[in-house]
Amino acid sequence: MKKKIIAANFKMNKTRSDVEYYFDIFMEKIDILKSKSFFTDTEIIFAPSFTLLRDVHGRIKPQDDFIKLASQNFYHKKNGAYTGEINLDMIKDCGCVYAIVGHSERRNIFNESDELIAKKINTIYDDGCVVPILCVGESLSVRNKNNQEIFIGNQLNSALRPIQDRKISSLIIAYEPIWAIGTGVAAKSEDGEKMHNFIHNYIHSNYQISELRVIYGGSVSETNITELITKPHIDGVLVGGASLDPAVFLNVVRLSTD
Ligand code: PEP
Repeated sequence: MKKKIIAANFKMNKTRSDVEYYFDIFMEKIDILKSKSFFTDTEIIFAPSFTLLRDVHGRIKPQDDFIKLASQNFYHKKNGAYTGEINLDMIKDCGCVYAIVGHSERRNIFNESDELIAKKINTIYDDGCVVPILCVGESLSVRNKNNQEIFIGNQLNSALRPIQDRKISSLIIAYEPIWAIGTGVAAKSEDGEKMHNFIHNYIHSNYQISELRVIYGGSVSETNITELITKPHIDGVLVGGASLDPAVFLNVVRLSTD
């Protein structure tokens, strides 16, 4: 069964003691939801900063295998003189089974190119032990010209070129329109559904992927989660701001599994 994903992206927030406090609350409340078997069809993913991966991993009990860890980024080289970078073996070593690739903040603030993103995707599938959460999303100017499908098609095409001739078991695409990230203005659920449908069709007609999940990101909140998650092609959500407070994120989780 294809599990729905509720993923938290902490971005550059929280210290070790913040995380201790967060998981004291989160794990206690999640136990209550668990007893109602909320999680048979849902996976929760946490993407904290690199320095917190071990701490978060330590808070996930072996029986809580519906909670997984993701890195927010990594560098595609195996090892060597790349001061300040973290490779795939290092994030796996910390317990990551997912890696976010090509978040718009990496593309726009840190100038990550389509070529670099494609190299990261290639490294992931060569390694075979981590599933990428590939982020794509159009700017407001692209959306205003109604060019979003062409734009997203091109982003997918360049990022996934390395896997064109391979059969891939699992891929997650996060559709995150840039104009919706951190603005408090999420995509309307009908517009989101339309883009997710487009992405599902695009991937299935161009690549051989056994399990594809397309999740939505951009100002997901307690108010809009139900409407978004009940759309047939929205397979989950990536939550930034609303994941930082454990009570709010728990509510997002609860509402998405209702
Ligand atoms: C994100 O940047 O991945 C994100 C979804 O942020 P927010 O929920 O804060 O818009």
